[in-house]
Amino acid sequence: MLAGKPVLRWSVEAFIAAGAIDIIVVTPAGHEGQVDQALSGLSGWRATDGGATRALSVQAGLAMLTGDIAVLVHDAARPFVTPGHIASLVSALSRSDGALPALAVADTLKRETDGGLKTTPRDGLWRAQTPQAFRLATLRSAYSAWPADDGEPTDDAALVERAGGKVVKIAGDPRLMKLTYPEDFEMAEQLAARAMMTRIGQGFDAHRFGPGDAVMLCGVKIAHDHGLVGHSDADVGLHALTDALLGAAGAGDIGDHFPPTDPKWKGADSGVFLRHAAELVAAGGGAIVNVDVTLICERPKVKPHREAMRARIADLLGLPVERVSVKATTTEQMGFTGRQEGLAAQAVASVQYPA
Ligand code: MG
Repeated sequence: MLAGKPVLRWSVEAFIAAGAIDIIVVTPAGHEGQVDQALSGLSGWRATDGGATRALSVQAGLAMLTGDIAVLVHDAARPFVTPGHIASLVSALSRSDGALPALAVADTLKRETDGGLKTTPRDGLWRAQTPQAFRLATLRSAYSAWPADDGEPTDDAALVERAGGKVVKIAGDPRLMKLTYPEDFEMAEQLAARAMMTRIGQGFDAHRFGPGDAVMLCGVKIAHDHGLVGHSDADVGLHALTDALLGAAGAGDIGDHFPPTDPKWKGADSGVFLRHAAELVAAGGGAIVNVDVTLICERPKVKPHREAMRARIADLLGLPVERVSVKATTTEQMGFTGRQEGLAAQAVASVQYPA
C-alpha cells in the first residue's frame, strides 16, 4: 500500500489515463486474487502468470499481445509514472527502435579495487528507468535473438541494443524511483501525498414511513412497526452515501443515474446504487479513503445493528471496516424525524484522486 492505494494500482491507473488499449499485469502464479483486489473497479487490464525470471515474465506478457502496436514494459515498483512520461516515450518511438527515461549520473562513481576505491569517469553514463517503449515486433524479435548463454538482461532496452536497434532516451524523472529498500517507501509516501488531492462529497436523503413491518437501513433489514416508502428499497443510509460518493466524483446525483421514473429500479436493492457510485469513483482514478453515515431517527434503535451496517457497507465498497462509520442521532422529537413521520440520513465520503 502506498498512500492508501496498492502500489500496482498507481501504475495501472496512469496507463489507463494515458489511453492504453490493453494492460497486461504479469504476476507470480497464485496471486490472481490479490491483483483483482488491488485493481477492483478498473477495467482494460488482464493478468497472466509470469516466469522464473524478469525476462520470462516480460515474454509471458508479450505473448498476450498482437498487432502493430507500441508496447511499454514497466516495473510496477515505480508507481509515479504519469501519462506525460508515457506520451513522450511513445512519441520518441517515431525516431528510434526503443525509448526509455534516463537520468544523468550526478554522483561521482567509484570502483572498488584491491588497491582501494578508484574514480570511474561518469561522462556519458545514464541511469535507465522504466517504462521502456518499443514496437511489439521489435521487442519480440529481440527476445528471440538474445543468446541463451549471455546471462540475464536487466532491462528490455538491452535486448534491442544487442539486436542492433537504436535506443534513445527521454528526460528521466527522479519520481520514477523504484521501490527497492524499506526506506524508499517513506520517501514515496511523501511524494504520494504531494501527488494526490482529497475530494469530499456529502449526501442527504429522507424517506417517509408507511405501512410495513421492516425498514432497510445501510443494507440491513430491521424489523419495525412501519416500513419506508420509496421507489427502491428506500434505504436512506445507502442513498445518502451514494450521493456522497457521486458528489466527490462530481458525477451528479442518484436521481441522474437511477431515475425514480424508471420501473427497472422498483424495489431495487440500494447496494446496486452504492456499487455503481463506487465504480464511477474508481474509473475516474479515485480511491475512497473513508465514509461516515449518520442516521437520523427516533426509532428504530440503530445501535444494535450498527456493526452489521458497517460490515455491509465495507463489503459493498471493498473497504476495511475501520474506514466505514455509521452513527445515529435523534432530533429530540422535533421536526419530521422527531414526529416519526420519516427517517433521514447524512453521509460524507473522502476520496483521493491524482492531483
Ligand atoms: Mg432516497
